[in-house]
Amino acid sequence: MNLLSDLPDLASLSAMDRAHLIHPVSPWRQHEQRGPTVLQSGSGAWLTDSQGHRLLDSFAGLWCVNVGYGQESVVQAAAEQMRQLPYATGYFHFSSEPAIRLAEKLVQITPASLTRVYLTLGGSEAVDAAVRFIVQYYNAIGKPAKKHFIALERGYHGSSSTGAGLTALPVFHRGFDLPLPTQHYIPSPNPYRHAAGADPQALIAASVASLRAKVAQLGADTVAAFFCEPIQGSGGVIVPPKGWLKAMRDAARELDILFVVDEVITGFGRTGPMFACEAEGVEPDLMTMAKGLTSGYVPMGATMVSEKIYAGIADGAPAGAAIGHGATYSAHPVGAAVALEVLRLYEEGGVLANGQRGAAHFATGLDALRSHPLVGDARHRGLLGALELVSNKTTKAGFDPALGLPDRIFNAGYQNGLIFRSFGDHILGFAPALIFSEDEYAQMFTRLKKTLDDVLAAPDVRAAL
Ligand code: PMP
Repeated sequence: MNLLSDLPDLASLSAMDRAHLIHPVSPWRQHEQRGPTVLQSGSGAWLTDSQGHRLLDSFAGLWCVNVGYGQESVVQAAAEQMRQLPYATGYFHFSSEPAIRLAEKLVQITPASLTRVYLTLGGSEAVDAAVRFIVQYYNAIGKPAKKHFIALERGYHGSSSTGAGLTALPVFHRGFDLPLPTQHYIPSPNPYRHAAGADPQALIAASVASLRAKVAQLGADTVAAFFCEPIQGSGGVIVPPKGWLKAMRDAARELDILFVVDEVITGFGRTGPMFACEAEGVEPDLMTMAKGLTSGYVPMGATMVSEKIYAGIADGAPAGAAIGHGATYSAHPVGAAVALEVLRLYEEGGVLANGQRGAAHFATGLDALRSHPLVGDARHRGLLGALELVSNKTTKAGFDPALGLPDRIFNAGYQNGLIFRSFGDHILGFAPALIFSEDEYAQMFTRLKKTLDDVLAAPDVRAAL
């Protein structure tokens, strides 16, 4: 069925959007003026908008469509599950076959420390569940003073009432009375801008020292957990040195605080292995995931916990009493059926291996742009990458916001048939689907280079350099 053919025309569709639809993380009034870009269809790495423009999506939707658009076997899996059993609650001890099989599968493919799975509707809900489980755990084991959470500056952990406070990006706090008094940050391990410089060992030592200092300042007995992304995504694709995650994990263990890895972006082959934790042999106490779990075909995320956390909560509750966390759509059978098929595509369908092969083309393409006059830094791991644009490569100064460069760059990319993320601070984010072909990488970088050249051709941008 073509939804748009049932609707009057693009102008009235746009008017309806502007009048009624609230868009996530957007300037609401500006959106009313601008109106939506309506996407019509997708196939492989490509999107078509409602005006027939074909666009190469180098951001996999919102770093989620890892298997690409139009995977028929995923559509079939959803359709079959909907036909057979579209819904089953997990309340009252009910369960469904896909949810059970998915939990078992996730335990198999994640670090050995993680043995229990709570299935959510996305990443924010997964982070929120992790926070609630941690609070419940410490209360249950008789350490109720452990209430403080430490996260990274520029980290992103969703936009739930608590998760948005672990997120350390100003727009998620402004006007929302966040962060909470129990939420704290340490500097981001950013080789391009950290005060300790880019030397890997110095940067890792500085991060570990920051964590120790923050725990000491709050009081070791009052800190519950450290939350981090193995590579910070929404904060601008910040790639810490190899060994950083392991060093932070070891420090957390020594400090007797839980180590939570948020793999919502980095999971499911995005950085090479199935999970970024694997690359450093890190075994977290809790892990959150979403996005690539279903490749965005339907909403689903997961919170995984170690046996220690699970048992602490399970045995801390009065016998027979419910643990009061859950939702109507927890462990949704359609989401689970889609996730199982997507996981099959990663492994048996060769998608993960194709992504690993593609990473070399991705790295070469980004590295080549380092010499472009607008580019200060190019960084990447696996198929997660960014270009940071600066007005001065020596001082690393950004651009005057009055130039409105982020929107201009995004629009120039669109004109050149390329979608990527253009962050407000002049960072361009890339996360291609793992199914990109060699030719699609070539097209991506031709279009990206042309986009940067087009922007550079504007007299006001030249004058800013
Ligand atoms: N954690 C991380 C690391 C994320 O990148 C995101 C989403 N970008 C979330 C949590 C929240 O996930 P969702 O948008 O599915 O709620």
